[in-house]
Amino acid sequence: MLASPGTTVDSHCPYCALQCGMSLTRPRADVAGAPEVQPRDFPTNRGGLCQKGWTSAAVLGASDRLVTPLVRAESGELGPVSWDVALDLVASRLAALAAEHGPGSVAVFGGGGLTNEKAYALGKFTRTVLRTPNIDYNGRFCMASAAAGMNRSFGVDRGLPFPLSDVGGAQAVLLLGSNLAETMPPAVQHLAGARAAGGLVVVDPRRSATARLTGDPSTGSGQRPASAQPAEGVHLAPVPGTDLAVLLGLLHVVLAEGLADREYLEERTTGFDDVARSVAAWWPERVESVSGVAAGELRRVARLLAAAAPVHGGGGVYVLTGRGVEQSTQGTATVTASINLALALGLPGRIGSGYGAITGQGNGQGGREHGQKADQLPGYRKIDDPAAREHVAAVWGVDPETLPGPGVPAVQLLRSLGTPGGPRALLVHGSNLVVSAPNASSVIERLKSLDLLVVCDFVPSETALLADVVLPVTQWAEEEGTMTSLEGRVIRRRAVVAPPGEARSELWILAELARRLGAPEPLAFPTDPAVVFDELARASAGGPADYSGLSHARLDADEASGGPGLFWPVPAAPSGAADPGASAQHPGTPRMFLDRFATPDGRARMVAVDHVGPSDDVRPGAPIYLVTGRVLQHYQSGAQTHRVAELERLVAEPYVELHPVLGSRIGVPDGGRVRLTSARGRVEATARWTDAVRPDTVFMPFHWSGTGSVNQVTTDATDPISGMPEFKVCAVDLTPVPDA
Ligand code: SF4
Repeated sequence: MLASPGTTVDSHCPYCALQCGMSLTRPRADVAGAPEVQPRDFPTNRGGLCQKGWTSAAVLGASDRLVTPLVRAESGELGPVSWDVALDLVASRLAALAAEHGPGSVAVFGGGGLTNEKAYALGKFTRTVLRTPNIDYNGRFCMASAAAGMNRSFGVDRGLPFPLSDVGGAQAVLLLGSNLAETMPPAVQHLAGARAAGGLVVVDPRRSATARLTGDPSTGSGQRPASAQPAEGVHLAPVPGTDLAVLLGLLHVVLAEGLADREYLEERTTGFDDVARSVAAWWPERVESVSGVAAGELRRVARLLAAAAPVHGGGGVYVLTGRGVEQSTQGTATVTASINLALALGLPGRIGSGYGAITGQGNGQGGREHGQKADQLPGYRKIDDPAAREHVAAVWGVDPETLPGPGVPAVQLLRSLGTPGGPRALLVHGSNLVVSAPNASSVIERLKSLDLLVVCDFVPSETALLADVVLPVTQWAEEEGTMTSLEGRVIRRRAVVAPPGEARSELWILAELARRLGAPEPLAFPTDPAVVFDELARASAGGPADYSGLSHARLDADEASGGPGLFWPVPAAPSGAADPGASAQHPGTPRMFLDRFATPDGRARMVAVDHVGPSDDVRPGAPIYLVTGRVLQHYQSGAQTHRVAELERLVAEPYVELHPVLGSRIGVPDGGRVRLTSARGRVEATARWTDAVRPDTVFMPFHWSGTGSVNQVTTDATDPISGMPEFKVCAVDLTPVPDA
């Protein structure tokens, strides 16, 4: 139900996983327009918002909002039709394809920005109505390696198994591959303790805004002038793709110098001996030869971290990873090495210390818990677990035997589209694959080869423009629902304005398609998000991500009373409680692993890993590495932020950062045009000279399409465990673009 005109409701930013708290005031009845956004005090942002958050309401009123379904005519043009026409068409073509080629001829691609309710309904619709195993989502591009690493070591994956605010009190923070000063600026305040203690260590081949927070005058080289002022930390700038070697070297020093927490290792972990053996050969000088990080710097950082660890009486340490180290063919191994280091120092499961992954997308955490992942059922259960299938099938009212088995990860799924025996139809929800998928030109070819492409979106994204049918959907401030922040805190999203035209929620679209496709009783697709959430909660009961003690009403009551929020797992009844009436009282789990890890024996598993290097052909002699990332003003594929005039004014076009030495060598001046070519394709952009990147490395943000789309050149090689593509490093040739 919409808030009354002129009233203010509490909600959250539509963009990243920090899910900053904001209040939204609905325009008065006599005033048209978007709601007014004001920051509010919420534990992740404490009253702060970045430029994207401040301007987020502008996206609601984008001039090209989709307001009616569109169907491609024989002329090739997309034209408006009624909902009945569009949905009848989609349903009849899906049914015909399934009848002729089997249920596997249909595939679904979801998104990490969908609410928990939508992610749940999408997984349920795919498994019970379409009965296809072919579903995955763009979280595979975002969080898969962190999830795989945490599941393997801890038995469960919650990005931050502690509240973000805990990080603020730590004496040291090792931040690997995360530029949070640009991607989620309000989070920087949680680094205050480490910066004050000189303990912020940033590992990034580029002197990013976050690396600059260290105040390290060595700019990543380790060479500090004698007159250097005391810094707030250390910046290490390894050769792209060698973070894993740096981590192995850090653990080597910790063990070689007797700095590990032996008692903790004995009591709370398994696998230490194998790991100790595996890092024995990674002495600092060898790491230096691989990564370029000076051996002395490595020793300095290892000692700095150890001194801050509880075992040595320090003030606490957090090891945090981001996409920079996770979007790699070694992503799971790098996360594992980060966890091994944290375990050796005795950090996880201790208040004031730990390991965590900084989730990126708005619902990157919840999006992976409710069943839109190829191998998952709701509650973060494995789809090939017979008990999980039985439980979820009972909630859905279907025979567990009818549920399909696991599908394949996103890149594999995209590669199979339109191939013999592969899916011939794709439904896309909350993803702009044309811009955000690696090796994008091959993805575009696959999309064009389909018999049917259906895209649900609120603007004509680059992917929607390729579709046969486009279905207009509601946005964040037009709908009720829940999201789950990077800390596993379940929060409410609230509707303050009506959607434009005929835009509808995906919940309604899935219900209508299910009806047209003959979903049998008692299989139901409710459209009220609160009802969907109640079902989601029942389906999650007993799973790793247990929401069964939650409801919209409970979340509302908690927020109204100024509560700190509720972190999963929140079981319906406290363990061992005899009184079902006590169910609403489970307080949630802000801090996990305090007593035991979620493994069968309660101990964290240390797993030996080794550095192999990136998949791409980084040629010897004069390799040029491409790394990609984000800018403060834009989000993901830019489908939202390019429609905000204020943000677009600030950063309107793609660019390539390159070192002046490299620019001079290849004849590309500052401000000139440069072409990047890889084995996959090429991209052109304006060159920006800066000494913030290594002379062997260039950086390009990924928010643009067409000739400025950096994913035309990135590789779709994937991590063998997580299926995550290696967005973060590939080899490119650079050439000047002659003036037209
Ligand atoms: Fe906060 Fe992220 Fe929104 Fe910026 S984009 S206001 S950091 S939630």
